[in-house]
Amino acid sequence: MPAAPSSRRVNVRTPEVMERVQAEVETHYRSVLVEAVRAKGSVLNIGNTTVRLARDFGFCYGVERAIDLAYAARRVFSDRRVFLLGEIIHNPEVNRQLTEMGIVSIPISQQEEKVAKLSAEDVVIVPAFGAETRLMKLISSRGCMVVDTTCGDVMSVWKRVRNYAKTSFTSIIHGKASHEETRATSSRALGDDGNGHYLVILTLADVDYVCDYIRQGGDKAAFYERFKGADAYSNGFDPDIHLTRIGVANQTTMLKSETEEIQRRLKKAIEDRDGVGSPNFQVFDTICGATQERQDSLFGLLQQPLDILLVVGGYNSSNTTHLVEIGEQQLPTFFIRTAECLTSLEQIVHFDLHLKAEKTSYSGKLAGEEPITIGITAGASCPNNLIEDTLLRIFALRGITSDQVKESVGL
Ligand code: SF4
Repeated sequence: MPAAPSSRRVNVRTPEVMERVQAEVETHYRSVLVEAVRAKGSVLNIGNTTVRLARDFGFCYGVERAIDLAYAARRVFSDRRVFLLGEIIHNPEVNRQLTEMGIVSIPISQQEEKVAKLSAEDVVIVPAFGAETRLMKLISSRGCMVVDTTCGDVMSVWKRVRNYAKTSFTSIIHGKASHEETRATSSRALGDDGNGHYLVILTLADVDYVCDYIRQGGDKAAFYERFKGADAYSNGFDPDIHLTRIGVANQTTMLKSETEEIQRRLKKAIEDRDGVGSPNFQVFDTICGATQERQDSLFGLLQQPLDILLVVGGYNSSNTTHLVEIGEQQLPTFFIRTAECLTSLEQIVHFDLHLKAEKTSYSGKLAGEEPITIGITAGASCPNNLIEDTLLRIFALRGITSDQVKESVGL
């Protein structure tokens, strides 16, 4: 009987390919202007307009690697069909570039159906978030070539939750159940034998509900009802059994302070039930270094006096969303996709996290002759060219040309 096909992981990072790819990636996403502003202390002041950049923002190492690999895959397999599972990262500009290069994105809802029709001639790119084990097995069964861009920090979370499963601990995952990364992590929490369990919690209200259940039990049907949908718990998960021993992990891009609070509350609930120092609780902080740096840098930026904050990035980007939440607590904050969202001096099109929709707000802050200081930051999936566009747009609205901006930093 012929052996079943299996996927082939291919290394596309040869020195010749990478030289070409890096030149191409730089053309698409690099900004000499942004680098010059950074070199001058991340502040640009012209006339009565000042822009301050966060110390760390934009592309992280995992995103840079994923983009390099996707570009390399296209170059190496120029004569083949190249597919991408969903989005390489959560930034529409980057995804648009990949589409223009002929890389076909398969939406999450169609992945099983479409992957089942691929052949050994096809190339599949796994995004930085990783992919569910079920899907990886399906790709393998089709014999496709795989370019896996999963970030090492995401794989560290998988290692943790696999270990939880091995030792019969249920993984409590702080994240968004429908997010690609959390779906991939949840699938690893089932363990190598598939008998592990997980529960995904998102909010402090969720954790309080779970903590109450840990302390005094509760209505199982109501528990299922609360966490229903979007694969928030594993098949066969029983809160009366599977909250006995828990291990906490998190999506890599969550808000650090919230994740810590969630860990603290769950630990306390277990200790209230089983005694201080109970072995029934484990925790590993799995927020990645890049997310942490961007959050810390924003806290640093917010120490300076600012009139408004602009956060640039894809609206579905988790780490970017948390930067917006941090900003909102302190000053008027606008989550914009591109510079075009600054439609005029008074009008900003931006994403409202609470309405979960794009809307237009009117801010008199940019208008007039009064001095203004604007802060800018961006999540790990936002390229520097979008920050440059935003900088130039702000100054243009204030009557300062791009030549004047470039001259001011010696370009
Ligand atoms: S945000 Fe963190 S986990 Fe995600 S790709 Fe970047 S480094 Fe990796």
